[in-house]
Amino acid sequence: MASRPVLGSRCSRLGLLRSILGPAAPYIVGAANQGGRCATILLVVIKKVILASPRGFCAGVVRAIDTVEIALQNFDEPLYVRKEIVHNPYVVENLRRKGVRFVDELDEVPQGERVIFSAHGVSPKVWERAKAKSLKVIDATCPLVTKVHKEARKFAKLGYTIVLIGHVGHEEVEGTMGEAPHHMELVSSVEDVDRLELEDPEKVAYLTQTTLSLNDTRIIVEALRRKFPRIEGPPSEDICYATQNRQEAVREMAENVDLILVVGAMNSSNSNRLVEEARQHGTPSYLISDVHSIDPGWLEDIETVGITSGASAPESLVHDAVEFFKSQGADVEEFITRRENVQFALPSAVSDG
Ligand code: SF4
Repeated sequence: MASRPVLGSRCSRLGLLRSILGPAAPYIVGAANQGGRCATILLVVIKKVILASPRGFCAGVVRAIDTVEIALQNFDEPLYVRKEIVHNPYVVENLRRKGVRFVDELDEVPQGERVIFSAHGVSPKVWERAKAKSLKVIDATCPLVTKVHKEARKFAKLGYTIVLIGHVGHEEVEGTMGEAPHHMELVSSVEDVDRLELEDPEKVAYLTQTTLSLNDTRIIVEALRRKFPRIEGPPSEDICYATQNRQEAVREMAENVDLILVVGAMNSSNSNRLVEEARQHGTPSYLISDVHSIDPGWLEDIETVGITSGASAPESLVHDAVEFFKSQGADVEEFITRRENVQFALPSAVSDG
């Protein structure tokens, strides 16, 4: 079976072609490896790279990573972090190398130690467990996730059934559901809404995960409104500004490019939604963890590549991808749809440390 083509893989024919074309030729040369041998060579003309803006780190991710970095400086080791601080393996590995101990659950944290909760938030049960173990908690939950938790508590207190629109198994959803487990129903699609049977259809509210597709969520909310005409929503949009702005940029960029590459982790909800957004607008799109995961086959017949990144993807990974295309002769221009200036204060447990 042929192995996946690899960009710039070692191959004598590739070297020969590069020497013929010259370093400034506007060609990307990819090689497909077959059993370690160079099987096919692709000549691809990428003339332009369009870089979406805004892209990459949001204020919640910056705050979470800064929280860990400052805690490392301010407190003696060991420093534990429950779950990935943000959904990106490069960020996690970088912090691990600096001494952070990542754990899945608090059972792995010894009594009385210091632990940071990730940007995705935790349920009250996790707080109770931390208290029982006398852990020193630094809460790096994004304030925009905390806002959804507060809304869940408010609606539950008023006796509403809360329909949470979100993805099964996502950490943020688990945390929010945990705020009012006996009052919550999770839906991810219109079909889920069709199946919903609620005890009191007159007293229903909906909330959403912060990193959903705007389009898909609108369709699900419309289905909920049809089924429960008196349903109430959150006072302001739960899908966060960063998710909205990155989707808007992709939507507008999709008209001007032949392909959109989204730099982000496979488990990053907002990154996956950017790929979907591009595809929904008829533009092929792929999620890449870094420049090495670009399949040269994607670049055939492509002249203009759009690049963006999810809210937890470091800019250095975008830079590597851009530099790769630049080194092959592509022009690079930025496509600015909006300026962001959102900042969140650090958790007091770390800023006061
Ligand atoms: Fe907060 Fe939105 Fe960033 Fe999630 S994506 S950390 S909700 S700002």
